[in-house]
Parts: sequence; C-alpha cells; structure tokens
Amino acid sequence: MNKNSSNIMALAPNTSNKRETVCIFGTGDFGRALGHKMIQSGYPVVYGSRSSQISNLIPKDAEVLGHAEAAQKAAIIIIAIQRQHYNFLTPLAEVLRGKVLVDISNNLKLNQYPESNAEYLAQLLPGSRVVKAFNTVSAWALQSGTLDASRQVFVCGDDVEAKQMVMNIVRALGLTPLDKGSLLAAQEIENYPLQLFPMWKFPIILSFGLTAFFFLYCLALDIIYTYIYENNNFSFFIAITIPNRVCPVMALILLALVYLPGIFAAIIQLYRGTKYRRFPDWLDKWMLCRKQLGLIALAFASLHAVFTLVTPMRAFVSWRTSKGIISQVLNNKTEPLNNTNAWLSDSYLALGILGYFLFVLLGITSLPSVSNNVNWREFRFVQSKLGYLALILCTAHTLVYGGKWFLSPSAYKWYLPNIYILSLIVPCAVLVVKFVLIFPCVDKHLTQIRQGWERSPKYSE
Ligand code: NAP
Repeated sequence: MNKNSSNIMALAPNTSNKRETVCIFGTGDFGRALGHKMIQSGYPVVYGSRSSQISNLIPKDAEVLGHAEAAQKAAIIIIAIQRQHYNFLTPLAEVLRGKVLVDISNNLKLNQYPESNAEYLAQLLPGSRVVKAFNTVSAWALQSGTLDASRQVFVCGDDVEAKQMVMNIVRALGLTPLDKGSLLAAQEIENYPLQLFPMWKFPIILSFGLTAFFFLYCLALDIIYTYIYENNNFSFFIAITIPNRVCPVMALILLALVYLPGIFAAIIQLYRGTKYRRFPDWLDKWMLCRKQLGLIALAFASLHAVFTLVTPMRAFVSWRTSKGIISQVLNNKTEPLNNTNAWLSDSYLALGILGYFLFVLLGITSLPSVSNNVNWREFRFVQSKLGYLALILCTAHTLVYGGKWFLSPSAYKWYLPNIYILSLIVPCAVLVVKFVLIFPCVDKHLTQIRQGWERSPKYSE
C-alpha cells in the first residue's frame, strides 16, 4: 500500500466504532425526527417520555422509558421539549449531574425572555453541561432529508468538551457544526429562526416605495396627460410601456444607491480626519444592505431586458411602424436614413448591453459560492471598479437614450421633468463626487485616513 492511501485510511472516520447511546427527552415532532436521523447514522436512541407507550410514529429501533431511567443510559441528552416545561427537569437534577444537555428550543418572538433558553436551562441545572444546538434545523427538513439550505448547525456552550461531543454528533448526521462560542451566543442563535430576511427589509421597502412613485408618475404623464390634452387613450401602456420605463429607472437608481453610502462614508472620514469614529447608525445599516440593493437592481435590469426584447411583438409597435411606412407610400417619399439617430440608437443599445453584462457579473460575484472563491482584492476589484464601470455605462445608456429630448419643452408635461431626467440625479451625483474623490490629492489623504492616520489623534504617543 502506498503512503498516500495509508494517509487516506488514517483520515477516514472509523465506521466500525460503535456509537454511544443518545437520550432524547420528548417524543414530539422534533424529538422523533432527530431520533430517526440518529438511528440512521448508527446511534442507539433512548427516549425519555411522560408515557412509556410506544406509538408507531416513534422510530421502531428506539427505546422509550421514563425520564430518569432514560437519562441514566446516555451521556448526552437532547431536550426536545418547549422551554415553558423545563421546570419538570429540576427534580431530575441529580440524575442529570455531569450530563451534556443539548438545548434545541426556539421561542415564538425575538428576545421573548430576558435570558436565552439555554442559559435558563443552565441556571435550572447548574450541575449539567448545557450546549445549544440544532435549533435552526427544522423537524421537517430532518425527516424529509431536504437539509441543503440548512446544513449548518450553530453550536455554543461553556464546556469545550461537551461542545465537541455535540459537534461530533452533528458531523455524524452529515451536517456542518459552526462553533459560535460560549453560551452567551445562545440568545443570538435562538433569534436566527425568527428573523425574516432582516437585510432585505430596507431594500424591499425602498424598492416598493420608489416603484410605486415612478409608476404613478408615468401614469400621470403618459396616460392621464395624453388623455386630457391629446385625447389619446393609451391606457394599455400600463402593461408594458410603463413597466419598461420604471424598471430601468429603478435599476439605475438602486445601483447608484449601492455606491452612495461609500461616498458618504468617504466624505465623513475626510471631514472627521479619522476612521476611528463610528458612522451614524443609518449609514452602517445602509452599508450592510448594499448587496441586497444591488440584487434588486439586477432584477429590475433583467426585467427591463425582457420587456425590451418583446417590444417588436407589440401591436402598438407594429401599428406605429406600418403607419410610418404607409405615410411614406402615400407621400411617395422615402425617408433617408438619419445617421445621427442610427448612431444614437446603436450606441445606447451597446451601452445598455455592456452595462447589463457587468451588472450580471456583479450579481454573480456577490453569491457566497463565488465570493468565497475570490480573494479580497479580486472581490473589491469586481464590486468597486467594475461596479462603478457598470454605473457609468448604465448612466450613459440613459443619457444617450433620453439626452436629445431632455431639453425639449415637450418633455416637461405639466412642467414636470421626464422620468429619465429624475433617474439620472442620484447616479450623476454619485459619479461626480466619486470623480472628485479619486483626484490624487483627495485620494491620497483618504487612503492615509483608511490606513490609520488621524488629524487630531485621541491617544497621542
Ligand atoms: P412538540 O411536538 O410539541 O413536542 C414536545 C414534546 O415535549 C411532547 O411531545 C412531549 O413529549 C414533551 N412535553 C410536552 N409537555 C411536557 C411537559 N409538561 N413536561 C414534560 N414534557 C413535556 O414540540 P416539537 O415541535 O417537537 O418541539 C420541541 C422543541 O424543539 C421546542 O423547544 C422547539 O422550539 C424545538 N424545535 C422544534 C423544531 C421543529 O421543527 N418542530 C425545530 C427546531 C427546534 P412526551 O409526550 O414524550 O413527554
């Protein structure tokens, strides 16, 4: 046998080792699902239950005993019982002394109790070694084997050896333990399953608000105004024309909003002359949800691409094209190709395609599976340099598209600017300030601050 294969043998788990019995208190949904999974992984399971009757839902290889009797058979006891019933454990304190108790419980509300359930369990049974684990895994996922989205199991506890024992079980079940430290982390771990896309809240609310605003804005200018002053009923614009105006506008503004907090951060650091003071809370929160803002922007840009691709199929567009042809035939006159227009239309399409390509690249590199495989410099290059390039291309796409009629009075229905003019305000502001920030004299100063230099150091040497 060669050297390599002997190394592989040494690293492979020793499958012949008999696994130690694990006790589970509670024969409810989670207790049963975990029991099934443990038996499949080779662990003998004994249940501690109020009733010693074996229902046919309980894994058939498991034993069901009273709590005290079951606890005596194992070193690790999983408490698959709601926190409000933990009091029943107090009389068992002596039996549970020195045992590893795994708290898997969750609450119904964020920070429902002053202390975490695991800390409460540790207070009730000071002689036991409490470890928090498994609470982010659902009984359904355990039983159905659909654990792909939740393979990680957060584990925390004050007793290192006890934590290791639990992490070994987690690994044996084919899951990945993630050590979150001492039992103090339990509160945070217990809050995880109760959170509903926390980083997405602000980007989603903002996107809904802005989309509604721009939709109503277009509705007023493109449908109501035309109906009142031109007597044209363009109500069907609601289906494709208006969404195809709102989507690119949203994509551009949200992309600019990804880079705006970085601009604010740079200005604040330059003004304060230090990086050692915290940013205001709103800026911190905004910075944390840049990825989500970028992904929503990408979704809007993709919708814009799809809406644009279906344009030739629209009845309105074919009617307008044939109207143009018929009018040329009736006037017996062929319109010459307007070279400027041809250039403008090809350029704005090319800018849009390139901008969208970079947009997609930014989206792909923000996926954890991709970002984990690039180093910090590569990630920054894509997200910052290529990101700004995407912003420049998309801004230019809008400028070239709408530029020629931005200055025409007919673009100001009811004295209101066209939606494309509005969409350019934030991106242009971001690009202009960024341009100032990359001036060597400003950039050098900012780099110094980011490397730790302070204008008036708090702690002088
Ligand atoms: P469940 O179906 O209601 O089962 C709880 C079990 O606790 C009961 O079957 C019962 O077992 C026992 N029990 C109930 N009242 C008791 C009392 N007064 N004294 C002693 N034992 C009592 O709940 P579950 O869904 O399995 O959840 C159990 C724990 O796992 C909870 O803390 C929950 O937060 C956590 N959890 C559940 C899931 C999930 O997907 N279900 C996911 C993660 C974490 P016996 O009749 O055998 O005594």
